[in-house]
Amino acid sequence: MERKKLLGMTLGELKEVAAVAGLPGYAAKQIMQWLYGKRVRSIEEMTNLSKSGRTALAECYEVGCVSPSDVQQSIDGTAKYLFPTESGQQVECVFIPDGDRATLCVSSQAGCRMGCRFCMTGRQGFGGNLTATDILNQVYSVPGSEQLTNIVFMGQGEPMDNLDAVLRATRLLTDQDGWAWSPKRITVSTVGVRRGVERFLRESECHLAISLHNPFPEERLAMMPAENAFGIVELLTLLKQQDWSHQRRLSFEYIVFGGLNDSERHARELVRLLAPLECRVNLIRFHEIPDTPYRGASEERMIWLRDYLTRHGVTTTIRASRGQDIYAACGLLHAATSISPLGECQQSGNLNIK
Ligand code: SF4
Repeated sequence: MERKKLLGMTLGELKEVAAVAGLPGYAAKQIMQWLYGKRVRSIEEMTNLSKSGRTALAECYEVGCVSPSDVQQSIDGTAKYLFPTESGQQVECVFIPDGDRATLCVSSQAGCRMGCRFCMTGRQGFGGNLTATDILNQVYSVPGSEQLTNIVFMGQGEPMDNLDAVLRATRLLTDQDGWAWSPKRITVSTVGVRRGVERFLRESECHLAISLHNPFPEERLAMMPAENAFGIVELLTLLKQQDWSHQRRLSFEYIVFGGLNDSERHARELVRLLAPLECRVNLIRFHEIPDTPYRGASEERMIWLRDYLTRHGVTTTIRASRGQDIYAACGLLHAATSISPLGECQQSGNLNIK
């Protein structure tokens, strides 16, 4: 019989599990602490549960964590890990150390349905949703997990297209009985999926990042088919109805393509579109991928765009590019083929451009 996974379960669900295993009610909280506080890898390690209780528990359940099946290490310290999922897919996450911070970029789906033209994941097609266990396992099992200070949902997949699992994962990460992280340490990105964004704004306090990439709807549509279902103008109208002055941060990701979205016309429209939102814009270098007409803008152009936006009241930064030599940089995550058994990249892929 296949054993069910404890990783990803809430306190309420663990209470039922404890009852089934004949454990006292308070054991649910103990299991929660072993899982999310101490990150044990086996039920046997939960030593404050009775021996008979552990045996009964292990008959039907397991912790459910899985080690990465491969890793690629960048010269800049970034590492890209390949994880098997419950449904037999492979997804990538990227560990990005930076001084006293360490960020993990996690995947929420195997592949993606959104089909952004410049994204390797989009080209790969859709392989299925990750479960909350799959998402949390990336945090749980990545080497250096205990150093993590931030998590960004900017890996493979569109988080708002798998929101049940993403919300369950973020709740367990922020639950006082779970990881107890502040929601301010977690950013969820999206191209803009109407129902998902609306629900996320209602149900989560985590930061939100919008993949903008072009302020003109018709030009954005040529790059991002998702514009058709929920356009950037409508999305901005929704976002402007929210109160952003407190805890939650709103940011816009903007890959700068040479000759495509880096003109003064684009800069002017960006300023107009985003005003008067309290937000920031992150400019991202484009890492070229095969068989696309897209080219990255020059460094001078990126600096010009940053300075233009900043001068006009939009807080803007150029995001440092990390892990480019292992195709872990922004927008280039692909899939199972990205890491060969020899640890050599076979396929380009920016860590998702989102
Ligand atoms: S950029 Fe994000 S939403 Fe677009 S295809 Fe890639 S993974 Fe999907």
